[in-house]
Amino acid sequence: MQAAYSGRKTSYSVYSGFGVGAAVLAADGHVFKGSNQEVVNYKGTCAERAAIILASVAGKRDKIRKIAVVGGPVNDDLDVGSEQCATEHPITPCGQCCQDLREIESNGDEEITIILAGRNKVMRLIGVRSLLPFAFSIN
Ligand SMILES: [Zn+2]
Repeated sequence: MQAAYSGRKTSYSVYSGFGVGAAVLAADGHVFKGSNQEVVNYKGTCAERAAIILASVAGKRDKIRKIAVVGGPVNDDLDVGSEQCATEHPITPCGQCCQDLREIESNGDEEITIILAGRNKVMRLIGVRSLLPFAFSIN
């Protein structure tokens, strides 16, 4: 979870003012941190997918076993990497990130653990299906 908070420090969220951090853990113990990267047309990259892309570039896409996500409003007076800046309740990955995670999970040999944190609650889910039961498929 701390890696997700740490990843959030690199959030580029000047348009929404909402910073998100994510960290994925590969089977071999490598951790890849991501943060949301916005552009003015709002078609930037989510923190989850940023972390997934970094794992993929390192050749560990199908080895992802866990993902942790945290988000909240950016406040210049608080450390964006601290729990104080997180939303009260956990945020969840968007549909596109869940689709990515479902495909990774289907290529692997075990379900992915999803850890979602807020200031007052941490949720731990086993399997991306719990967030996206009906993923898109061409089969
Ligand atoms: Zn997303």
